[in-house]
Amino acid sequence: MKAQTLIDYTRTLDCIHCGLCISACPTYKLTASEPSSPRGRIHLMRAVAEGEIEADASFAEEMDFCLLCRHCESVCPSGVEFGALMEHTRSELGPRTFLGRVSSKLGFGLLTKRPLLRLVAASLRLAQQTGLVRLIAPLLGERGQALTNLPSIPSAKERELLPERTPSSREDSTPVTLLEGCVMPELLGRVNRATVRVLAAAGHEVLVPANQPTCCGSLQAHNGALDEARILAKQVIAAFEETGEIPVVTNSAGCGSHMKEYANLFEDEADWRERAERFSARVKDLSEILAERPLTAPITENVSGPITYDDPCHLCHGQGVRSEPRALLDQTGHERVELRDSESCCGSAGIYSALRPKDAALILEPKLEALKDSGAKTLVTANPGCQLQWQAGIKSRGLDVEVLHIAELLERSLEARD
Ligand code: SF4
Ligand code: SF4
Repeated sequence: MKAQTLIDYTRTLDCIHCGLCISACPTYKLTASEPSSPRGRIHLMRAVAEGEIEADASFAEEMDFCLLCRHCESVCPSGVEFGALMEHTRSELGPRTFLGRVSSKLGFGLLTKRPLLRLVAASLRLAQQTGLVRLIAPLLGERGQALTNLPSIPSAKERELLPERTPSSREDSTPVTLLEGCVMPELLGRVNRATVRVLAAAGHEVLVPANQPTCCGSLQAHNGALDEARILAKQVIAAFEETGEIPVVTNSAGCGSHMKEYANLFEDEADWRERAERFSARVKDLSEILAERPLTAPITENVSGPITYDDPCHLCHGQGVRSEPRALLDQTGHERVELRDSESCCGSAGIYSALRPKDAALILEPKLEALKDSGAKTLVTANPGCQLQWQAGIKSRGLDVEVLHIAELLERSLEARD
């Protein structure tokens, strides 16, 4: 591969080297090393594009070390699109080893096939219940930690897919469609059900198109599998086009951020770019749609206060959604405390915590300190990956804090009201 084709060169030129992004970067905070900062990574990309250095193993390592949290984008005065730059670079680098190629094909292939996901979830549940996970994990080295960090896989009943239509009892109800997600039904089906219940209570008929593909392609895109991401994006767009112009709701910040930027995948396909833009205009995070028709739900005793909210990177930096979740939480009447540095990454970052569990745990450390200092008894997030990462970190520290998705907290308030 020619070095020049590795990098989306023109995008690197937006960087004016001011360094304002450096202190926001979680990997720089860990290493205090310039190449592990956004400015340093852009400098490396540009040097490769200009043929000054090779795209060797140390270059690839700095690209892999990045969480793609996009905190650097939020603070950049020059509008550098770091996320798009990194996705392009990773795409051109591709998996570095044969094993890497095989496992990424298998892993990403798995995410797109519901029957296979079901089989893996059922097998994992069995392995957890028989103690096999504890036996196997040490044999897998660092990656074994990701296996032991997994929550208990729910029963088959709890992993059932959502009904295609859930009506609202409100007379002024309006329809929305819901993206069901790939791992969400298998690991956090209760969050999906809470989402439907809360939407219905807010006056939305909830449609879950049966023909939606299993995966929106966000994990693929973030990890450089752009061809696969393009195929999945086309399937998602086509499936939801059949539901007209009604909003497409997601309860996963990573999926929402990616679906709102589908057009970036189709720079060379004008017709798909246009369809992607029309689709993306319909995409809303759960908190955005609920903010339009607020719920009135009172404080409930089955949530311990005070509560705090941690901003998922792909909601605050990727979508600019910050005030809506806080406003919804405040409607419940709970005492809410702000979490120090709530916009910095928790280390989940899609499959990063599975691929680099040690780095992910180190990145979570200061946030666990902030949680302790906040005195909160319930931590609320709006992204499934963050929820699992926080649960694992809180468990390993032995903290007495419950982690809830915002849909779950709102559902508990509705239970108290009803
Ligand atoms: S995306 Fe996050 S980890 Fe990567 S360079 Fe930007 S701030 Fe650092
Ligand atoms: S803040 Fe933006 S312009 Fe400044 S160094 Fe970072 S990426 Fe470059």
